[in-house]
Amino acid sequence: MAPQKIAAGNWKMNGDLAALTQLDALTADGCQVLICPPSVLIHAMVQKAEGSAILVGGQDCHDKTSGAHTGDISAEQMRDVGASHVILGHSERRADHGETDADVSAKAITAHQAGLVTVICIGETESQRDSGETLQVIATQLAGSVPDCATADNTVIAYEPVWAIGTGRTPTEDQIAEVHALLRDELGARFTDGANMSLLYGGSVKAANATQIFAIPHVDGALVGGASLKADDFAPIIAALTAA
Ligand code: PEP
Repeated sequence: MAPQKIAAGNWKMNGDLAALTQLDALTADGCQVLICPPSVLIHAMVQKAEGSAILVGGQDCHDKTSGAHTGDISAEQMRDVGASHVILGHSERRADHGETDADVSAKAITAHQAGLVTVICIGETESQRDSGETLQVIATQLAGSVPDCATADNTVIAYEPVWAIGTGRTPTEDQIAEVHALLRDELGARFTDGANMSLLYGGSVKAANATQIFAIPHVDGALVGGASLKADDFAPIIAALTAA
């Protein structure tokens, strides 16, 4: 089984009910299309996506199933309103909320128990890249953030260099290839179906660079922020992945 091709959109803290009409112009027939809106929009987006192949996910969940955690949302609640996936360990969560690899792993276990597919994000900062630590940082984050219960069916890995997110800057093709080869090797060594786990690249993916990025070995799709907000920007990325 080859890894699933996935075009995933991360709306972050953007969008409203009116923005759900963006789904009208998106089709998902040559690859999986996943959109992760803010949690308040998940249910409405699930309803909007009904009858299409578009999947809907959350952007984070708690590592407990319920309880006294004001402001947090559980994986089971997301599943209940129709989410199929959840992004975990995004660099903005790691930076803004101090999330560690261990936190991400604990959340992933709970999300898997609730039946969600996790999109686990890892990536180096610019200073880590500049000091030649990228591969070590990636290997450490991967080992610590991905739990032992991960399989190719319940886990997707997103390599997102922190310095490429929302900046318009992207790594060279060789730099992406080097990290994705490491991910494939590490996952293959640790998990029986590691060769089949989908590996997404994320960081300033747009229509103009999508075809080039999707041609890189072991890139099975993208996690897209800004360019996922408008169908005019996201649809060509989906088309590029379908054609890859
Ligand atoms: C992201 O939020 O995961 C991301 C990759 O953002 P952008 O595409 O805007 O760089």
